[in-house]
Amino acid sequence: MHGRGTKAIDLFTKMKETGCIPDQVTFLALLYACSHSGLVDEGKIFLDMMTNEYGLEAWPEHYACAVDLLGRSNHISKAYEFIEAMPIEPTSVVWCALLGACQVHSDTQMGAIAAHKLLKLDPENPGHYVFVSNVFASSRRWEEVENVRLKMKERGLVKNPACSWIEVGNKLHSFVARDRLHPNSKEIYMKLNQIMERLEKEEGYVGDTKFVLHNVSEEEKLKMLHGHSERLSIAFGLIGTSEGTPIRITKNLQVCGDCHRFTQLVSKLFERKGCQPVPSLQRGVLFMWWFLVILHRQANLNYFNDALSQTTDKDLDC
Ligand SMILES: [Zn+2]
Repeated sequence: MHGRGTKAIDLFTKMKETGCIPDQVTFLALLYACSHSGLVDEGKIFLDMMTNEYGLEAWPEHYACAVDLLGRSNHISKAYEFIEAMPIEPTSVVWCALLGACQVHSDTQMGAIAAHKLLKLDPENPGHYVFVSNVFASSRRWEEVENVRLKMKERGLVKNPACSWIEVGNKLHSFVARDRLHPNSKEIYMKLNQIMERLEKEEGYVGDTKFVLHNVSEEEKLKMLHGHSERLSIAFGLIGTSEGTPIRITKNLQVCGDCHRFTQLVSKLFERKGCQPVPSLQRGVLFMWWFLVILHRQANLNYFNDALSQTTDKDLDC
């Protein structure tokens, strides 16, 4: 997960030497490690080893990992061929993996195929419509974006709004994007403006509008970035806690790349000491340096430390 695939392989070798027999979970972790480290050949070897040497049946998650492995390394066509040759019917996680790779490598043609398959397979999942819409939006295919949103609306599906929350003074404070309902909203936006001024002046920060997946002007995109929910939580955290207190933020969706950057710079400028890693496998972001921000989701974990970040950016709507 943190780009230490070779270490994971070393650990696996040691496990075998001690007589430990690997199971599906072991191989899932190995495939995941290979995928996040670009170890395509090694990943293929482990998938073969699992089924042929250990007689373990591959789960849909193993196939999704294999697709991710190929897709991340820009072998999109091979990933598709792999899906076509799968001995089981590909599940939505498999198509999601291909779609994510298509988004990263801007393969719009294959992306459209993966999107179609995904929505056909699981037409009642609003998250998939959002994902597909985001993929089209990232390549500025606004007509397709509208079509997907329309289909979602026709089915009466509603997306959960992106939401961040922070505990301050034994009370939970939640924020949605561009939220102005908090009683301290005025102070929060003032703090956010101060943060932005320092970031721009001292770190040369400029908002990256490619993470705003809406067909609006550049100026409007910058405003939208500025009001992403985790930034409001961070600003409130800086106001509401004393210096040196770790700030922990939770989020129901994955953060966008620009908020990752924002968080890294804030942590550098507003020194906050003390941090603990998240002890569970949950989707999200753990960022630690002088300052702690944790953003989590349901199924995965992304781990950040200062300059290094790994994220799938599967859902960029902050
Ligand atoms: Zn964001």
